[in-house]
Amino acid sequence: MTAAASLRTRVAILGSGPAGLTAALYTARANLRPVVIAGVPAGGQLMITNEVENYPGFPEGIQGPELIDLFRKQAERFGTRILDDSVSRLDVKHRPFRLWTAGGTEIVADSVIVATGAQAKWLNVPGEEKLRGKGVSACATCDGFFFKGKELIVAGGGDTAMEEATFLTKFATKVTIVHRRDAFRASRIMAERAQKNPKIRVMWNSIIEEVLGDASVTGVRVRDTRTGQVKDVACGGVFVAIGHEPTTSLFRGVLDLDQVGYLKSVEHTRTSVTGVFAAGDVHDHRYRQAVTAAGMGCMAAIDAERWLAEEGMEGPAEETAGAPAAEAARAPPAPRVSAVSGAKG
Ligand code: NDP
Repeated sequence: MTAAASLRTRVAILGSGPAGLTAALYTARANLRPVVIAGVPAGGQLMITNEVENYPGFPEGIQGPELIDLFRKQAERFGTRILDDSVSRLDVKHRPFRLWTAGGTEIVADSVIVATGAQAKWLNVPGEEKLRGKGVSACATCDGFFFKGKELIVAGGGDTAMEEATFLTKFATKVTIVHRRDAFRASRIMAERAQKNPKIRVMWNSIIEEVLGDASVTGVRVRDTRTGQVKDVACGGVFVAIGHEPTTSLFRGVLDLDQVGYLKSVEHTRTSVTGVFAAGDVHDHRYRQAVTAAGMGCMAAIDAERWLAEEGMEGPAEETAGAPAAEAARAPPAPRVSAVSGAKG
């Protein structure tokens, strides 16, 4: 839809991955006329995923972008309004809440569902981006199945690297963990489990300098940090497991975040501000699956709907409330990135 100067809604949803669009589907079917601010680029991590084989209901698998397109159409079918724009500022200190987009739209909302997701961190070395989806992955659960009978590299030394390496031994003939130090960051139990696995070996004090291959991954170039020696290690795939970055910079100082920046929930999907809910990878760093994100989108939608009902706000909001003329005094002169205000509620 085209951007308007002002929109009034019961529910504003930030993000258009599985969590955001499922929240939209449920709140739209609850007659709440949600507005989704899709983010730029829209669609989240599935937009850079090729084959998705573990989303239930698609026995032949489906391409990530196609799945997002279907989510989107389903949400729109029930009246969701989607803005292909990003939120640059929000005020959840006063009710109704207010959000301003980079494209100049003001959204006045009685509740907010944050589903802005997280992004895998990448090594940022030559070959990595070119070969993403062609042997380079950041999700063993999603892509491990495609690497049956191959030798694989896992980069990282945290719990994710241990978990991914262990999982990948179901498919791979051999998994080499390449870690930049001489000790793992991972918890002892996860590290021991990985190291006891006969298919796993560790290259300590090693940094991947390049991912090799043209049409698909054929190896990695690794440098020993102590000796400086560089060597090529043949492999059929590289799993980058060096952490994720939740998309929460907008909420710093506004909503409670955990030590590593994920949105905290205080009860179910409720955040530290009453009326603001969290869903998907922006909150969940444990499961990180499209289907779990979609499930949390559903949970946040139900929580938002119930909270709105408790507050006496049922059905769609009056479209005229929050119109530009009445609200002009509160609108900021221009959208600002990361400028936020909020209070615990
Ligand atoms: P972490 O931040 O814990 O670990 C990241 C690892 O990647 C570190 O070993 C780090 O090295 C390495 N690293 C970071 N950047 C680079 C780089 N540019 N080049 C090479 N190596 C790099 O992230 P995780 O995703 O592993 O874990 C995140 C959180 O989730 C943790 O709290 C973890 O405990 C939790 N988790 C729990 C699980 C479970 O309980 N089942 C499973 C997975 C995660 P260095 O050590 O040198 O800093």
